[in-house]
Amino acid sequence: MKNSSYIRKMLAFACSFLLLICSQVLAGQKIHTVFFEGEENELHVYRINGSKPGKTLLIIGGIQGDEPGGFLAADFYADFLLEKGNLIVVPRANFPSILKKERKINQDMNRKFLDDNVSNYESKVVNVLKKLICESDCFLNLHEGSGIYSSKWESDKKNPKRFGQSIIADDSEVKGSDSKESIHLERMAKKVIEKINRHIENKEHFFHFNNHRTNDPDSVHKEQLRSATYYAYHICKIPAFGIESAKSLPLEQKVRQHIYAINAFMEILDIIPQTPGIDLKKPEMQYMIISVNDSIPVVVGKMQRLKIHKGDTIQIHDIIANYERGLSVDVIGLGNQFNDMKKRLVVNEPTRIVAKKDFYKCGSVFLDIDSKDSKAVMQLSVSESKQTQILRYKLKINGKLKMVDNYGHVDIQRGDKLVIEDILAGKVDPSKYIVNFKGFVGNLANNSGEDRGYVIDTSKEVLMKRYSLNKRGRNYYVLTTLNGKEVGKIFIDIQL
Ligand SMILES: [Zn+2]
Repeated sequence: MKNSSYIRKMLAFACSFLLLICSQVLAGQKIHTVFFEGEENELHVYRINGSKPGKTLLIIGGIQGDEPGGFLAADFYADFLLEKGNLIVVPRANFPSILKKERKINQDMNRKFLDDNVSNYESKVVNVLKKLICESDCFLNLHEGSGIYSSKWESDKKNPKRFGQSIIADDSEVKGSDSKESIHLERMAKKVIEKINRHIENKEHFFHFNNHRTNDPDSVHKEQLRSATYYAYHICKIPAFGIESAKSLPLEQKVRQHIYAINAFMEILDIIPQTPGIDLKKPEMQYMIISVNDSIPVVVGKMQRLKIHKGDTIQIHDIIANYERGLSVDVIGLGNQFNDMKKRLVVNEPTRIVAKKDFYKCGSVFLDIDSKDSKAVMQLSVSESKQTQILRYKLKINGKLKMVDNYGHVDIQRGDKLVIEDILAGKVDPSKYIVNFKGFVGNLANNSGEDRGYVIDTSKEVLMKRYSLNKRGRNYYVLTTLNGKEVGKIFIDIQL
């Protein structure tokens, strides 16, 4: 993972220079960047680029740690995929304050965006956020506010000085950089508010537009001159809003209100999500959970080996992969040809367990047989695969096991039933190879060339003579390839 994120970072870096070319490369991509990795203020930034170009919306949550409605909502968008436009999502701007469930640690992070000269982790994070704000076309800072905002004084809990259930802007419009026309913040916010309020039953909790008029001499919110949204308004000249769910509401409602707000802003900006999001990442198994003779299950990692005794009963309970659905296991030579998950299988010889996601093979673990016959002392041990490059073949001839070295010959009688059960390939997953009996087609519907596991009946006319030496129908070979290149062979000589 680290490697690919590094490559992506480099790609994003290169792309800042080669904007035109790379806008193609980065389209339809997710880029996860980690700032201050390993420090307590580690900062995760997710850039989601739609397949079609468009506006960029920045969503920041958790700038103050005691406002979960905001960062939990932002979290959902980190996994988004877009058809058009872009999102930059910072779910947890101030992670230390979230861990403590406090508004601030050293200083209020949302009061450090103007002439700040105190250096601490908050200022380091703010410097990153400032760049992200100026990269965007619109910015939402997700908060929870105390009380409920109302343009008129109604009570101590509901009045013009309260923040809850409002969308805050620093002005009714923002000038827009250079020659660009002004953007009507109030109009944008009111469109969004209309959409949020459709989902709110209690009229007392309706959202309202809350214009702080931050730069006006008589503004009651002068402290907002130091906020992130004012920085966006004043320096980056983009529309920016504080979205405030009232602290007193149930958490789920607070999160939902933020989601309604984000969705409505995306609609205004013509940022279109993919529904459902399609992320066809390569399936990768990480672990298998296996028990032996009903012991407490052990965790066996990809390409690791589990040592058992001849005759032990194994049971695969689960596999952990980068997918949750479509998973199965195949214990080679045992169980059935579909799924061996949760089956109790007696193992008498070394074998391999293949994890699959649908029909993709996504990882293997090995079962080794301990030759020492000490069934009384059952100690499960998991070890790494040996670094051997030597390829060996595990064959079954009329049900009898035969191991064959690479480039070796096997004599069989015509009529013998041959199964190429597996290959042993050291540190490389044997699933990555293709083992092809030339002249035999295992899967007629989909001839991938892979012939492991099929019963090759040599009595019938199933073998194609033209693949044999001198087309005499006697000397065949099994070719093993890795990524299309030959890595091994064995020769099958049929005696008459
Ligand atoms: Zn806040």
